[in-house]
Amino acid sequence: MIVLKFGGTSIADADQIRAVGDILEKCLTRKPVVILSALSGVTDTLIRLAQEALEKGSKSIDPIRRRHQKVIQALGIEEDIVGDLLQDYRELLKGISLVKELTPRSLDYAMSFGERFSVRIIAAHLCQRGIPAEPIVSYDIGLHTDAQFGKALPLPDLDGPIAKAIRGLKKVPVITGFIGKAGPGGDVTTLGRGGSDYSAAIIGSAIGAEEIQIWTDVDGIMTADPEIVPDARPIDILSFDEASELAYFGARVIHPSTMIPAIKKSIAIRVLNTYRPEAPGTLVVRERPPGAQVVRSIAHKRNITLINIVSTRMLQQHGFMARVFEVFARREIVIDLISTSEVSVSISTDSKGGLDDLVEEISEFGRVTLEREKTIICVVGQGMRDAVGVAARIFESLGEAGVPVRLITQGATRINISLVVENRDVEPAVRALHRAFFD
Ligand code: ASP
Ligand code: MG
Repeated sequence: MIVLKFGGTSIADADQIRAVGDILEKCLTRKPVVILSALSGVTDTLIRLAQEALEKGSKSIDPIRRRHQKVIQALGIEEDIVGDLLQDYRELLKGISLVKELTPRSLDYAMSFGERFSVRIIAAHLCQRGIPAEPIVSYDIGLHTDAQFGKALPLPDLDGPIAKAIRGLKKVPVITGFIGKAGPGGDVTTLGRGGSDYSAAIIGSAIGAEEIQIWTDVDGIMTADPEIVPDARPIDILSFDEASELAYFGARVIHPSTMIPAIKKSIAIRVLNTYRPEAPGTLVVRERPPGAQVVRSIAHKRNITLINIVSTRMLQQHGFMARVFEVFARREIVIDLISTSEVSVSISTDSKGGLDDLVEEISEFGRVTLEREKTIICVVGQGMRDAVGVAARIFESLGEAGVPVRLITQGATRINISLVVENRDVEPAVRALHRAFFD
């Protein structure tokens, strides 16, 4: 069996959906299991309408209805195929506007419609062209999570039930990505924005898939963001470790959690382009191929904040870090990079909310300053473990480009050197690094 996950832009309109049908037609002998996002833009619209129901009492679902009706008509499938779901969504908006409350729980429920619409439409299109297919909502085949709305985590021991449910199917399953349920009979949850990749990996790992394919709108994971570096190129093959670092630090093509289930069962992930299905894409596997380039890619994540904390007590004090970290943990502020000296620590985070309260609390035992509008740039490659002079080259190229570096760290796995620069310096910095390592 092979898992194919199609993102929103891969099923944006009727032509794209037909292209997806072409791709699936060619792999029927490999027993495809299809995972889908919502049609592009739909999740954002579902959120916006829910917020408008809350703030303005509006109950119109027109943008959502029109978006789907257009595709349904262009494909020539049954007009009313999502009619009952649209009705449910209308009821939800009515409820939100009446009680004037939009909780994380009802927001997850609102977002879940996108994937529930898309699986019905794509399955109907496949049936229409002679591929027997069945729309499936992930929680109906056992994708259960904890109850952290908006960032739910899959429960342990899902593999058996999911595999059993999928093996029992006669038709091609077309399964909702992104959503789950907090236990059987529980509330609907979501795995976090962009979470369909994660769903694909969870299901792929459950059924022991031969491969997990992530179909998107670019040629694979790139050597840098092509919007900044026009001659950035797709990377042919990456290790799980390298891909995890890149996904976490901003190479938006693939959701950072995707690698977790894949690593567990050592299942290869392939990132492919629906617009150019013939392109080889990026293969992500356990072992880095021998002889691969030292640096594989340069990722970046904008708009992070640096929190600098200086101990107000004397030197040689123990327990200072523990106190700092305890506050971050309790306030659920995610730490990305850390750099320390004897009396001070700089911490980067991309959490946006709650920073002022955090500062106030830490100020009780340390002097705190915040620096906003920074960017993390990561130079990633497993070969850096054994290579000499990578850091020198990084500094040399940034020096030549006139980019000041605010912080630098190397993780314990030694496959990632991360730097923090000003947002405004991202372009020259990424270009200079790409030139240094890829030209
Ligand atoms: N539709 C969801 C989102 O827009 C999940 C996904 O696309 O992966 O975040
Ligand atoms: Mg995505």
